[in-house]
Amino acid sequence: MRVSLLAFADRPVVRKLATSGVGRKVALRFVAGEHLDDGLRAVKALNERGTTASLDHLGENVTDEPKATEAARVYIETVERIESAGLLANISVKLSQLGLDIDPDLALGNAERVVERAAAAGTTVTLDMEDHRYTERTVAACQALAERHPGAIGVALQSYLYRTPEDLERVIHTQVRLCKGAYLESADVAYPHRNDVDKAFAHLARRLLQAGTYPMIATHDEQLVRFVQRTAERVGRDRSTFEFQMLYGIRRDLQRALVDDGYRVRIYVPFGTEWYPYLVRRLAERPANIRFFASQLFRR
Ligand SMILES: Cc1cc2nc3c(=O)[nH]c(=O)nc-3n(C[C@H](O)[C@H](O)[C@H](O)COP(=O)(O)OP(=O)(O)OC[C@H]3O[C@@H](n4cnc5c(N)ncnc54)[C@H](O)[C@@H]3O)c2cc1C
Repeated sequence: MRVSLLAFADRPVVRKLATSGVGRKVALRFVAGEHLDDGLRAVKALNERGTTASLDHLGENVTDEPKATEAARVYIETVERIESAGLLANISVKLSQLGLDIDPDLALGNAERVVERAAAAGTTVTLDMEDHRYTERTVAACQALAERHPGAIGVALQSYLYRTPEDLERVIHTQVRLCKGAYLESADVAYPHRNDVDKAFAHLARRLLQAGTYPMIATHDEQLVRFVQRTAERVGRDRSTFEFQMLYGIRRDLQRALVDDGYRVRIYVPFGTEWYPYLVRRLAERPANIRFFASQLFRR
């Protein structure tokens, strides 16, 4: 189901249909809104509920330079607004939004300007991980940026990729976000079965909790959350030295329960007009979301 939805959604005609009014309505379950102000408003509410946030200005696979440069400008503005409003938030960035498909130097230059501004504001940047064609370049960019801006940068790693244990060792000194992985990948590069992805997640989480600078555990999977809690206790990791991360609009009950238990929780808050690929990934993760989408289509 997940595989066919991700492939189907890529067709231009499907995209056109789905970005109509109904798609927009469903997207608002997972996205704070189309403007920076919407994102900041959501972060303020989350801070009031005891969680921090990571703002994601939606966009990916940018193919022209002005758009990539504009994306970096929006991120810099986002950092400035976080700073001036005194919000507890950092930012999440995709290198393909900053121009990686056009020219690696352009993307790295844009990323560097964003990281510099974030460091000056006392916050951090996480490089989101995209599909496997970007993995090597994203990990390498994180290593390069971490050399110049230690403490201000981290990267997301996906437990479904076979290569991740080696990547983890390359960036374990940065702030690593561990997630399962959201893209359509072949069995040549990624575990096709859920059980193996979960097992790999547990293995990587244990390594991160033992040796990571500041592990960021991004999952809504209650079994893995409990595994991480037990492992953190066992290795003597204080609750202030790692965090759970979850997506805006997903498992609010679990987010609240973790905050109440004294764990650090950060919510990933996407905003912007380019919400379609993000929405498709969220729908593909859960059949119930597709049923919800379909029910909205037929309700007028
Ligand atoms: C903060 C954060 C950042 C992320 N960054 C990246 C990234 O950079 N690159 C990347 O490839 N992936 C990223 N992801 C997505 C991740 O890889 C998974 O696709 C996603 O989190 C679902 O996996 P899960 O660990 O929650 O476990 P699952 O086993 O998929 O889900 C566990 C439970 O969570 C709930 N749930 C999960 N997804 C949904 C949903 N869409 N709608 C409603 N309920 C849901 C359900 O109750 C489900 O039973 C990120 C996820 C988070 C939380």
